[in-house]
Amino acid sequence: MTAAEPLGLYVDGADAAAGGDPVPVEDPATREQLAVVPEATASDVARAVASAAAAFPTWRDTSGPERGRVLWRIAEAIRGDADGLARLESQDTGKPVGQARTDVETSARYFEFYAGVADKVYGETLPGDGAYWAYTLREPYGVVAHITPWNSPLAQLSRGVAPSLAVGNTVVVKPSEVTPLSTFLAARLFARAGLPAGACNVVAGLGPTTGAALVTHPDVAHVTFTGSVATGQRILHMAADRVLGCNLELGGKSPTIVLPDADLDAAVRAGAMAIVRNAGQSCFATTRIVVHRSIAQEYAERLALAVGRLSVGPGLDDPDLGPLASAAQLEKVRSALAGAEREGAHIVVGGTAVEGLRGYFLTPAVVAGVTNDMSVARDEIFGPVQTVLAFDNLDEAVAIANDSTYGLAAGVFTRDITTAHALARRLEAGQVQINRYPLGGVDTPFGGYKQSGLGREKGLAALEHYTQLKTVIVSE
Ligand code: NAD
Repeated sequence: MTAAEPLGLYVDGADAAAGGDPVPVEDPATREQLAVVPEATASDVARAVASAAAAFPTWRDTSGPERGRVLWRIAEAIRGDADGLARLESQDTGKPVGQARTDVETSARYFEFYAGVADKVYGETLPGDGAYWAYTLREPYGVVAHITPWNSPLAQLSRGVAPSLAVGNTVVVKPSEVTPLSTFLAARLFARAGLPAGACNVVAGLGPTTGAALVTHPDVAHVTFTGSVATGQRILHMAADRVLGCNLELGGKSPTIVLPDADLDAAVRAGAMAIVRNAGQSCFATTRIVVHRSIAQEYAERLALAVGRLSVGPGLDDPDLGPLASAAQLEKVRSALAGAEREGAHIVVGGTAVEGLRGYFLTPAVVAGVTNDMSVARDEIFGPVQTVLAFDNLDEAVAIANDSTYGLAAGVFTRDITTAHALARRLEAGQVQINRYPLGGVDTPFGGYKQSGLGREKGLAALEHYTQLKTVIVSE
């Protein structure tokens, strides 16, 4: 890595040495060691939480316009260091540097967006019944823990931390042990942009140790977690003991319905894009393309053609797809493909190793002949695997789409606008994308139905989850 190697702890506005075991961080394109980051122990976590708790009253009482100005300067600082951040994110996660650059720009946009709302966090006035009137205040929680996964660490950090800070909370961030590097770089950059010391702290380490120490710390007042359903459930159990609120942004197996009148080029692009972005390691990737039987074969053929042309290589060379993030993830994807064949599905293209490359590379795959009872259609694979399913009528399409434990997002491709809106209402998902996928920006609320999560990130909706409501009732 080019920036100074993290010491495992960022506290009180400076790097500090964590006391735990060293955790190696790998470059997934080469399998070489990128850095070694010591794990933050429970007492390191306590130090980070104490720093955030000490910074809280001053940051809370800083005026909204001033908090907004600091966030705006953070956005500028992110853009100013875009090259360094994108290269580091690309090496750490494996994603193509062009995609990492988009993540950097999205991160800057989060800070800009929430800079603009820092002085617009209002309550309501309630007329009462004649004996009283009332008003409400939206107040920050205090110290918020942000736990992030490895697929887009910088963008996920910014998605949660920007609104958290905008409304006056202070934060402790625990990035994934697989990809911790850009989070430390970001924290240093926030301090240089004028964020007060202690407002944003970082602890490195594994989930069951460092992560659990953070969630169970008595001075943590709220948790924002992005990751798998299984870990989200563990965090909810820990939070239940303390009656702690949680935003949970979990996994997905998002369907897209393609009707016979759809713009097929756009629908094929959506099917391919789902496995291009982060090599399919994206929570809201649409990974079940549910196509009307009359065009299902043509769709699968065109998709296979498009996917077969995609380039795969080291992220810094900016191909279409980089490697998977780790050996474990590569193994998981391979075993999902083998399972699909065992269940009777057919791999039309891809799923093979890439000659001459040492990293965790796999060519992107399209699997056809899939039915919704197969594991390949039910389990989140989190890799470059697209599935094509067929339907005969709209009711069946909706039933297939909704037959999932997940409900993060869904897509619809049709030129009939009435059908598009009718389907949007019937789909059990936190977001529905019409005629292009992926779509949306930092302003479009995002979060899951069913096991895909609790609460909403992005947009103004996120502010509800980073503030608590106080009602003041006044005698007439
Ligand atoms: P993960 O659940 O294994 O880990 C996520 C984070 O939780 C990591 O920082 C990890 O160290 C920490 N963690 C693990 N066990 C913990 C524990 N017991 N206590 C506290 N923290 C703990 O997820 P992952 O493999 O890093 O990421 C992939 C998953 O994330 C996929 O399921 C994907 O869909 C999901 N994801 C969701 C979104 C979203 O916005 N909905 C975005 C990206 C990824």
